[in-house]
Amino acid sequence: MSFKMIVLPGDGIGPEVTAEAVRVLEWFREHRGLVVDVRHEQYGAAAYHQQGAIITDEVMADLIAVDAVLFGATGGPEFDEVPMAARRQGSLLRIRRHMEVFANLRPVIGYDELADTVSLKPEAIHGVDMMIVRELNGGIYFGTPRGVAQSPNGMERGVNTLVYETPEIERIARFAFDLAKQRGGHMHSIDKSNVLECHQLWRKVVTRVGAEEYSEVPLEHMIVDNCAMQVIRDPKQFDVMLADNMFGDILSDLAGAISGSLGMLPSASLSVADENGRRRALYEPVHGSAPDIAGQGIANPLGAILSLAMAIELSFHSPDDAGILRQAVRSALAAGARTPDIQGGHPTTAGTTEMTDAVLHELHRLHDM
Ligand code: NAD
Repeated sequence: MSFKMIVLPGDGIGPEVTAEAVRVLEWFREHRGLVVDVRHEQYGAAAYHQQGAIITDEVMADLIAVDAVLFGATGGPEFDEVPMAARRQGSLLRIRRHMEVFANLRPVIGYDELADTVSLKPEAIHGVDMMIVRELNGGIYFGTPRGVAQSPNGMERGVNTLVYETPEIERIARFAFDLAKQRGGHMHSIDKSNVLECHQLWRKVVTRVGAEEYSEVPLEHMIVDNCAMQVIRDPKQFDVMLADNMFGDILSDLAGAISGSLGMLPSASLSVADENGRRRALYEPVHGSAPDIAGQGIANPLGAILSLAMAIELSFHSPDDAGILRQAVRSALAAGARTPDIQGGHPTTAGTTEMTDAVLHELHRLHDM
């Protein structure tokens, strides 16, 4: 089987971390027979200055034709200088909607190997294996009316709209329930139904879908503010966590504290499956463009590399290769490879490239075993 992937490095540390993920993919092509045709395309502020658009219409169209898109990061000072119309044309939100990738998977692992770095106690992170399922195509990031306008009283008035319709909630709920069923686990659905009518609907629909179609999956509802506290107090209680677009965004960054750094978190965003079972797929680390460290060669590439592992599993259908890559990441951490964000009290640090070298070293070792 052969696959096609488009790489969009983007802004800030995006190009630095995607280059490392591509190096790892090269290793799989060379040593494990993975056949992936990689096409590099421009995206971001630099692309705007060169080609007059953050992303060309042609590339935008092709994103839905390939098996996987690997995205770096967007945003930062250069991006902010691009005219608003161009930013809208190429925005990541528009890409996600254009690809109809409604289900954003954000796995959160507690790494014993980083116990000396993570702010939480070792016993709190030990064994954490959580999957945040974030609705990605709706909610307050897309709802209208939106904008800042002048009120009749002369004040400026900012408006955003939180809106979900029943089918959108059913679709993401079924996705999350299916995942919980596959994992033999349970599900928490997160909302703010004590205040927001939209989340009262969310809770009602999730409850109905669970009762009618997934009675074997234990379901618990949790209010988002309590959830934020529980994620830090006792993350092991969670298996699959279902959340809307904004809460999923915030809670998954919070969960970065469990894995040691935002730079450790991968993600996959998937569409519905077509008649051949194929899903459009966008893979990206959870972090942003990190302008504070861009260009210094110190960004943690593991979020991007673990996003590649998700692509290998979900789009290139090679779970064994994904497994060996995840094991190589853990072994590299166990051997002491640390970028500054996960250095903690550790005596040495690695740059972006050295961290990948450590992963490649472990891949060789595991492959030869
Ligand atoms: P950020 O994720 O870029 O950075 C937050 C903090 O985490 C920073 O201190 C940064 O140095 C650190 N960090 C992030 N990734 C890291 C990595 N791989 N290795 C080491 N440290 C890392 O979030 P921010 O600072 O709030 O936003 C910066 C820009 O990124 C903004 O323009 C924002 O809109 C954009 N953003 C983009 C995305 C995306 O592309 N998906 C996501 C979030 C934010």
